Amino acid sequence: MTSSFDTLWSQIAPIGRSPNGGYRRFAWTTADAAMREWFVAAARERGLDVQVDRNGNLWAWWVPDGHADEPAFVMGSHLDSVPDGGAFDGPLGVVSALCAVDELKARGVRLRKPVAVAVFADEEGARFGVACVGSRLMTGVLDPDRARALTDADGVSLADAMRAAGVDADGLGRDGELLRRIAAFVELHIEQGRALADSDFAVGVGSGIWPHGRWRFSLAGRADHAGTTQLDDRRDPMLCVGEAVLEARRQAERHGGLATVGKVVVEPNAVNGIPSRVSAWLDARAPDQATLDRILIGIAERVGRRASFEQVESTLVNESLTPAVEFAPDLRKRLVECLGADTPLLDTGAGHDAGILASRAPTGMLFVRNPTGISHSPEEFAERADCLAGIGALADVVQAWLYP
Ligand SMILES: [Zn+2]
Repeated sequence: MTSSFDTLWSQIAPIGRSPNGGYRRFAWTTADAAMREWFVAAARERGLDVQVDRNGNLWAWWVPDGHADEPAFVMGSHLDSVPDGGAFDGPLGVVSALCAVDELKARGVRLRKPVAVAVFADEEGARFGVACVGSRLMTGVLDPDRARALTDADGVSLADAMRAAGVDADGLGRDGELLRRIAAFVELHIEQGRALADSDFAVGVGSGIWPHGRWRFSLAGRADHAGTTQLDDRRDPMLCVGEAVLEARRQAERHGGLATVGKVVVEPNAVNGIPSRVSAWLDARAPDQATLDRILIGIAERVGRRASFEQVESTLVNESLTPAVEFAPDLRKRLVECLGADTPLLDTGAGHDAGILASRAPTGMLFVRNPTGISHSPEEFAERADCLAGIGALADVVQAWLYP
């Protein structure tokens, strides 16, 4: 297991790397294609049968003779990244799943039910604005026509981007047959917080995912000269963005959630010009839906008041919403049994493909300790020994499923 982890990890290290040490592996780009090709080669090297499903997700099947029709224990994660993301978010789950296959073989575990490794396409949503596109399409949560029409910053549609990457976008949509082949899904992921950092545990078990969503403020004012337009004569949409940024923070603090304005597009984006239009994206998460609603209403009201005062046209559109997820209690119990009764249970504010699949199949997560908690950053890090512990945990879980 040790050597296969090092080998696989070093193979992907240079792919899509940006000068600051982070990664730019956006869905359906050449970096993404290189990651996918790497996965196909690594899976085939292990004798796994690789398929691309109708939504562009990759599946590597390890099926014992005569058991092709039986549902599989599925491990996996994603290979795409956020802009200048870390090395671990996503790829650690995929590499660990491949290493768990190696580990099971090294242990001499006889396969008597199918096992699979999945790579879900476009998890981060960094290019087309919607997260977990591959798993949402597969489970029928995302409308295929809406998905095909999503565009990136250059106006390229998701359908065209997929076609350019050699994957047909005509067949997108719910894949009931494939869903029936999932007996259980476990996603191993680097922890994106510090719950394990000061603990004695390298691996924790996911309990659930906070409800979370993305919203877009479209704020239209009037372009004008920054040096000649009197303050009272301005219709400046940027003032509403400032309001959104600060109120997001206030509401999050007040209600115990998280709210962030992390992306702003300004037109015409001139130093000496009052903007004509600004789009600002809000990401909000909370322990439960009612709290999330309160946070959003608070922010929307504040921005709305400011917009009418400034004579700015304001619209707020929800771009995605993921309800609260509680991972399958039975599976969670089995994960804890495998890892030890004291294993910490963690809930997370981050979305994952596991959160999408949880509504269709028994799903769980394993989190690998992150000493700083930093994620979505070049500084994201996990100790090698902790990664190996994660692989061991995955292998234990699959072995316990094969031989309960
Ligand atoms: Zn991830």
